[in-house]
Amino acid sequence: MPADDPLKTYREKRNFERTSEPRGETPRTAADQPRFVIQKHDASRLHYDFRIEVDGVLKSWAVPKGPSTNPRERRLAVQTEDHPIEYIDFEGIIPEGEYGAGTMIVWDTGNYRNLKEIPVAEGLEKGQIEIWLVGQKLQGGYVLLRTGQGEDANWLLIKIKDEAANPELDLLKTEPKSVLTGRTLDDIAGEDV
Ligand code: MN
Repeated sequence: MPADDPLKTYREKRNFERTSEPRGETPRTAADQPRFVIQKHDASRLHYDFRIEVDGVLKSWAVPKGPSTNPRERRLAVQTEDHPIEYIDFEGIIPEGEYGAGTMIVWDTGNYRNLKEIPVAEGLEKGQIEIWLVGQKLQGGYVLLRTGQGEDANWLLIKIKDEAANPELDLLKTEPKSVLTGRTLDDIAGEDV
């Protein structure tokens, strides 16, 4: 394993003999169409994990209030450790006592494309990216803008004004289920017997 393994922090936080989360292989080459996922995660505090495929890992942010379709809403997005690509379809229960303990569903997933000239990886270093999501729930442009410094830095997730922008929608409320299995968080929690 190279010293600069981007998944080092991810693995150090977890005991893979206890959690069913993927350990992840070495970073993979990017798919033709990079993907994104938004996982609804009922941990110590409910939040939405926004992850995008960049250079073979999932760059990740925890969004306490979740994504909005209203361009006037600036949603805090706290950057977290890179996750392995295999995490993109993870649903289930992270056991009590483990990092991120609680239930998780795939709230939305799909492809994205870069709206800027510079590569997404470079934009992330500079602190601003603009991407176009083609999800099952979320569509259109989103900006991620860094407002703080260092690891676990604060970013803002903001909807771009385009045809998919809609201040009236509240997809978090109207579309609560997993796009993979149709389950809710409660359904998953209920399976823990
Ligand atoms: Mn989380």
